[in-house]
Amino acid sequence: QLCASQDFDFFYFVQQWPGSYCDTQQSCCYPTTGKPDPDFGIHGLWPNNNDGSYPSNCDSSNPFQQSQVSDLISTMQKEWPTLACPSGNGIQFWSHEWDKHGTCSESTLNQHDYFAAALNLKQKADLLQALTSAGINPDGGSYSLSSIKSAISGSIGSTPFIECNSDSSGNSQLYQVYLCVDTNASGFIDCPVFPHSKCGSNIEFPSF
Ligand code: 5GP
Ligand code: 5GP
Ligand code: 5GP
Repeated sequence: QLCASQDFDFFYFVQQWPGSYCDTQQSCCYPTTGKPDPDFGIHGLWPNNNDGSYPSNCDSSNPFQQSQVSDLISTMQKEWPTLACPSGNGIQFWSHEWDKHGTCSESTLNQHDYFAAALNLKQKADLLQALTSAGINPDGGSYSLSSIKSAISGSIGSTPFIECNSDSSGNSQLYQVYLCVDTNASGFIDCPVFPHSKCGSNIEFPSF
């Protein structure tokens, strides 16, 4: 059997802090299933290239189908909640993520396995646990970016990329955490390349 050609080099596994999505000027809407737990939620699992570029929308002939992930929906509602307005049940968000990103890793993961892999990675990377056990709590306090990165590296074993956004008063805050993952989505690796950062050296960790 010939090896399928690899159309990407690694994944970014991206988790979002709901407090930082919701306290922006734009605000947010809780999903129709209710307010999510105060925990990081999955944003996506994004195929990426070592040079920083990334493929998107790779196969319009294979759109998201709820029937392929029916066994995962209840876990996705908990671990991958949508916070965009208007309120939704998640299907739109997951469809967007599959269509834009998931279709670009079809060579290694089918639709069911793509979502199952993301849920599995979330279990392996408990960011809130990593942070709180280092004394970094979602209490609206300000923490050094370096302490946040060390807490996560120490717990997960690879260095994360931290993305910040601004709350409604303009303070820089912890918004998303990127971890790099091998092409089979089986585990974390050192990042071949990092996105560009715009965090201050001290950032807020808002409550949710
Ligand atoms: P933003 O412009 O808000 O940073 O990103 C918008 C969207 O572009 C993200 O939700 C994601 O779909 C995609 N994106 C942004 N940066 C990256 C990246 O470095 N790698 C990949 N694979 N996608 C990205
Ligand atoms: P990206 O293109 O950056 O992978 O995904 C962002 C898209 O998903 C946006 O169109 C956004 O409106 C939608 N979306 C739905 N729910 C969420 C959410 O909870 N967080 C983020 N970041 N985007 C969401
Ligand atoms: P998209 O066009 O991908 O839906 O969203 C564009 C940008 O606006 C993304 O950075 C996304 O995270 C953000 N966004 C979209 N909808 C919402 C929303 O309802 N609330 C917040 N806070 N951000 C949103």
